[in-house]
Amino acid sequence: MKMENPTPIQWQFSERAQQLQSSVIREILKVTVRPEVISFAGGLPSPATFPVERMRAAHDKVLSEQGRVALQYGTTDGYLPLREWIANSLSTDGARIHPEQVLMVSGSQQGLDLLAKVLIDEGSKVLVETPSYLGAIQAFSVYRPQFLSVPTDDHGLLPQEVAPLAKGARLLYALPNFQNPTGRTLSVERRLQLVEACASLGLPLIEDDPYGALSYRGEPLPKMLTMNPEGVIYMGSFSKVLTPGIRLGYVVAPVPLIRKLEQAKQAADLHTSQLTQMVVYEAIKDGFLNEHIPTIRKLYADQCQAMLAALQEYFPSSATWTRPEGGMFIWITLPKHIDAMQLLDEAIAQNVAFVPGAPFYANEIERNTLRLSFVTVPPEKIREGVQKLGALIANKL
Ligand code: PMP
Repeated sequence: MKMENPTPIQWQFSERAQQLQSSVIREILKVTVRPEVISFAGGLPSPATFPVERMRAAHDKVLSEQGRVALQYGTTDGYLPLREWIANSLSTDGARIHPEQVLMVSGSQQGLDLLAKVLIDEGSKVLVETPSYLGAIQAFSVYRPQFLSVPTDDHGLLPQEVAPLAKGARLLYALPNFQNPTGRTLSVERRLQLVEACASLGLPLIEDDPYGALSYRGEPLPKMLTMNPEGVIYMGSFSKVLTPGIRLGYVVAPVPLIRKLEQAKQAADLHTSQLTQMVVYEAIKDGFLNEHIPTIRKLYADQCQAMLAALQEYFPSSATWTRPEGGMFIWITLPKHIDAMQLLDEAIAQNVAFVPGAPFYANEIERNTLRLSFVTVPPEKIREGVQKLGALIANKL
């Protein structure tokens, strides 16, 4: 039945598709699957933290008690008990969040895509931190915005720099907690200033917060969402507190925006897996995350400490780095003349990998920067990898 000699198709990709590129990280990850490579490259959470047995039991319970609901199509906005749980967990005395403000998405990465789809036209101004999460830059780029980079310092985004850039802008995308890639945290004072600046400009502020719960000291700083629920779009994720493979995240926003996002999501995938949402609700509804998250924090805090100690010991004094108070990443700044992309080739030859800083910049690139993740590498390997990197850098001085 198979046709003989069909004319080969000359794929005519859309202009939008022509500018799509693979993420540098995905390319690097191909190398890091080799077991001998010490990889500081991935943004992957540690699999040691995945509550496999709890998820198995939750799947069993949902399938045996509500199997026919769990395996049916669901609503686009998401499973109501889970949305209620999220709304409750984000509400404070001053700011009540309602379930209709919550849209479940297939990983917060989908939230970024949907937000871009409904808020960005070609050429729209979009404000991002310098540097910013490369997955967001990638998601927004599809809709061809004009990125404007908001300057930052060692303490993160500078709120006073927003107003001069914001005229006609569609949104500002910020990561206040243990930022990807820098590990920096925005102080409460700056959060208030940023929320105020955006509110007075009528500029939507996206607060992307997948790492917020992973504060090593335990107490997270107040969310910008609760400072102005009318102007802040909050994005949360179960990837870093449960497991990333389930692809479950949420967007919290004013209802008119949620309705529009829902229409976009309907067109994209109808709804997020009903089974997954019900299983996650079953797994967390009795307070499981309150016991589970501290174990993740402890592991990451210890490994962060191991990496900071190794950096202190093996990196030349002309390199500087951030000291995260939570999350998964340390950001390194090397002397200006060192290109981290070149360093990566040399490092891979010695079986060490990291992510060069370049793809995290929407505009002007600082090539002498790089991101290290410490969460999937045991302390003795962290030492070994940092020592090798330190020696490569010292050779270039
Ligand atoms: N935002 C940031 C800042 C991230 O680091 C990530 C994951 N690396 C995401 C969003 C996407 O997370 P999810 O797994 O929920 O799609």
